[in-house]
Amino acid sequence: METKITTEILSDFTYEVIERIARFIVHLEEIEVQFYNDQKRFKVKVELIDSYKKALFKLLSIVLIAYKRDIVPNNTDNYPSLFAILKDILKAVNELHADYLPVLPRPSEPVELTRFERVIHKQIIRLTKEEIQQKISISINEKIGEEICSDPLVDYNTSSISDLFAQHDLKNKYGIENLSIKTDGNDDKLHITIPRIDASNTFRWASLIHEMAHSLFNHFNLKFFKSGIEKEFLNSDFFANKTKETIFNGFFKPTDNINAFPTEDTLKNWLEECWCDLFASILIGHSFYFSQYLAFINEKEKKQDTDYIDHPPSTFRLDLIESILCSRFPIESCTGLTLSIDNCEGLLSLLLENNTMSFEKRPEIRQIYVAFCMFFKSHFIAGNKQDKKSGEISLKNNRPLREIIYKSS
Ligand SMILES: [Zn+2]
Repeated sequence: METKITTEILSDFTYEVIERIARFIVHLEEIEVQFYNDQKRFKVKVELIDSYKKALFKLLSIVLIAYKRDIVPNNTDNYPSLFAILKDILKAVNELHADYLPVLPRPSEPVELTRFERVIHKQIIRLTKEEIQQKISISINEKIGEEICSDPLVDYNTSSISDLFAQHDLKNKYGIENLSIKTDGNDDKLHITIPRIDASNTFRWASLIHEMAHSLFNHFNLKFFKSGIEKEFLNSDFFANKTKETIFNGFFKPTDNINAFPTEDTLKNWLEECWCDLFASILIGHSFYFSQYLAFINEKEKKQDTDYIDHPPSTFRLDLIESILCSRFPIESCTGLTLSIDNCEGLLSLLLENNTMSFEKRPEIRQIYVAFCMFFKSHFIAGNKQDKKSGEISLKNNRPLREIIYKSS
């Protein structure tokens, strides 16, 4: 079903674009206060910051003028062009962020973020009975979304430094040893990064729980899923054989051409991403939905299937999060939140209209979604036990999982 551009969706979108611009300006002002407070001494730097602000104010004025002119009750003729303007402005704001900010210094990370870092760290220790004591470090990146890695220099060390050693035969010729490089992801440190203009945006911190969940997943994958998540999923009997064939022969099954997309590796990536989303949703509720939604509306357009090797389509993820939230927190899900969620979904599907993997364009994606939904609901939640007082559906009799979720809530 095609999503229509409604007044509500346009208003929500306008709000998000203005919010993004405002947050950017706040970020620039933080830089001024922290580094160039002496306006006379740093005249040139202050002018440089002003040029960023001027660009942002220009974008803001376009949003306001276009919105005022085009939002006309009962006349939706201009809605598609207003939507296209807003989409391009959001793209321009993100371009300024990702490509032009590194020239300016980064303000120090807010104290509250450091506190949040400690909370996440404590949770990991509590969740894992101190089996793993990963040290968490949250820092800032120059990108649009969050990232996680055990060593931020792993790519550099495995490519640039190692190439240097191989090309000049440094070990044999000069007796110099290469760096010892850990690539297995089992390091005791966990580096989570957040985009710099979101460092003080508490609404976006919820997504950091997803990043934390990756480390838990890697630790618990074989405890939760005896033969690994993808094998267990492939062997689950939730769907009839016919559907299973369609899904896995038609989509995830590796073909003769090893470069062809997709493969079972992609299935594992998708399952892991969704597990992390759903774990975070169960742990912290709806704030996670809205934080991921903000991340997704700022995502770059995906133009080909191979763009989905690591992550399922955003609408797929958001629908799955909504579905688990409705089961885990039925009361909250039935209140006004449903309306907000409907508008979020509408905006996201309009923004991702040209992406190759929508439910509309690819029926197999919907089938995979249904299979994921059943698989994860059975993993996280029991379908028939309901607490009469709270209406909350109890977590499944999945001991390791129940232990860690109950311990943390
Ligand atoms: Zn992830």
